[in-house]
Amino acid sequence: MEPLPVTLADRVVTDPDVARGYAVDHGPSAAAGRLPEGFTVVRARDRDDVQEVLRHAARHRIPVVPQGARTSTTGGAAALPDAIVLNVESLRSLEVDPDERIAITGPGVVNADLKAAAAAHDLAYPPDPASAGSCTIGGNVATNAGGLCCVKYGVTADYVRGLEVVLPGGEVMRTGRRTAKGVAGYDLTGLFVGSEGTLGVVTEVVARLVPAGDAPLTVLAVFPTLEATLAGVGVLRQLRPTPSLIELIDGPGLAAVQAYGDYGFPLDCGGVLLVQSDRAGHASEDMREYARALQRAGAEDVAVADDQAEADLLMAGRRVLNPALEAQGPRLVEDVCVPVARLGELVREVQEIAHRHGLRATSSGHAGDGNLHPCFFYDAADEASVAAAHAAFGDLVATAWRLGGTLTGEHGVGALKAPWLEGELGPAEMARQRAVKALFDPHGIMNPGRVYPAAG
Ligand SMILES: Cc1cc2nc3c(=O)[nH]c(=O)nc-3n(C[C@H](O)[C@H](O)[C@H](O)COP(=O)(O)OP(=O)(O)OC[C@H]3O[C@@H](n4cnc5c(N)ncnc54)[C@H](O)[C@@H]3O)c2cc1C
Repeated sequence: MEPLPVTLADRVVTDPDVARGYAVDHGPSAAAGRLPEGFTVVRARDRDDVQEVLRHAARHRIPVVPQGARTSTTGGAAALPDAIVLNVESLRSLEVDPDERIAITGPGVVNADLKAAAAAHDLAYPPDPASAGSCTIGGNVATNAGGLCCVKYGVTADYVRGLEVVLPGGEVMRTGRRTAKGVAGYDLTGLFVGSEGTLGVVTEVVARLVPAGDAPLTVLAVFPTLEATLAGVGVLRQLRPTPSLIELIDGPGLAAVQAYGDYGFPLDCGGVLLVQSDRAGHASEDMREYARALQRAGAEDVAVADDQAEADLLMAGRRVLNPALEAQGPRLVEDVCVPVARLGELVREVQEIAHRHGLRATSSGHAGDGNLHPCFFYDAADEASVAAAHAAFGDLVATAWRLGGTLTGEHGVGALKAPWLEGELGPAEMARQRAVKALFDPHGIMNPGRVYPAAG
């Protein structure tokens, strides 16, 4: 690789062990222990550093991987061979304008820190991926992150008013606006939200804030069968006011949580639903209403949290779900999203596909949005098992399409799902999207091979 300008010398990570830490995210290459050759990690301190890296990279046609906190589950933030890994976690400026109800943040601000800054003004930044304690706003914007409360509040795109982006070559581009309204020109903010580092590097975000609700209260409902659990989701979706969270964990998922620690879940049930309300002044009332509806829907046990401490206890098992599943061994994490009415078919297919390929599987996630994260567990030391997991993964993508859904609800395409993207978009749309990328990234240096597979 052409040496970086000397002005960036102290931004380059020279310790190979530290650099290796920046080379992987939560995608499957980490489990496989594979590291590419010849990458360099640059920790930018400000926008000037980002510009300098992108100028250098464009001049010498060096691939660039923009990077936040590396919580990507799709391999989108992992190092590429002979690439610059451009980490922007240190760009952490954060300013809240309570009158305009916006926050202006650097891309490295952690999601939970933006929430806390908004809360200090009795405001809220709702998008809440389960990784909120570590993932960054830049990463959230780049993946259009969702999370647990999307069923009421929507996704990251609903809270981004404007962006500052550094393009390949170093040009600084501003999109969108700070004002509550604005329709001047094409919505390029929308184009960059969810672009997964394939167009440029986000260096500032204008985020919309909303009035804070109450601290959420929680209902936990235990169902005898998975079918009954999913019927419960349908019932909740009909209720007004809408719950602020509807999460599902199936029987095998509960077993994984209980193996991780005793969170009080039964092991002989079909699944549980966790449901919340944060409606200002009415959360307790909503809890009672949701509990009655869930009992009518067939729940055999319903626990209602009357205060914040109890609500936190009921949610504790959901919070450890990811580490609990991780502790079960290597897995491919799906992120399909289907119409909510077809969730039952999706979950049944997960088990059938797993059975067909001789794998174990769990289904859990954001049931209120029809967005689940089924996991297929495999033996990383056994090539046949790895191949079976990938085949199962592909079968589930095809199932999601058949049910009228999409291959990714919130984690993005990254490296993991790039081979399937054309199957969803079709060749004409794929060509149009590649042409849009070429407009911003004519030399194809931004996160190449991610989202859009390498041509040829
Ligand atoms: C335990 C766990 C739970 C999770 N739960 C959820 C969930 O509930 N909902 C959800 O949506 N996701 C979830 N995720 C996935 C992940 O946290 C999100 O995709 C998150 O938005 C990634 O943020 P990050 O800062 O870690 O970005 P990274 O992982 O570093 O990067 C993600 C992508 O964004 C690009 N990128 C990062 N920063 C920039 C930037 N400044 N400019 C341009 N491109 C950039 C990268 O190139 C990469 O393609 C979870 C992950 C884990 C490990």
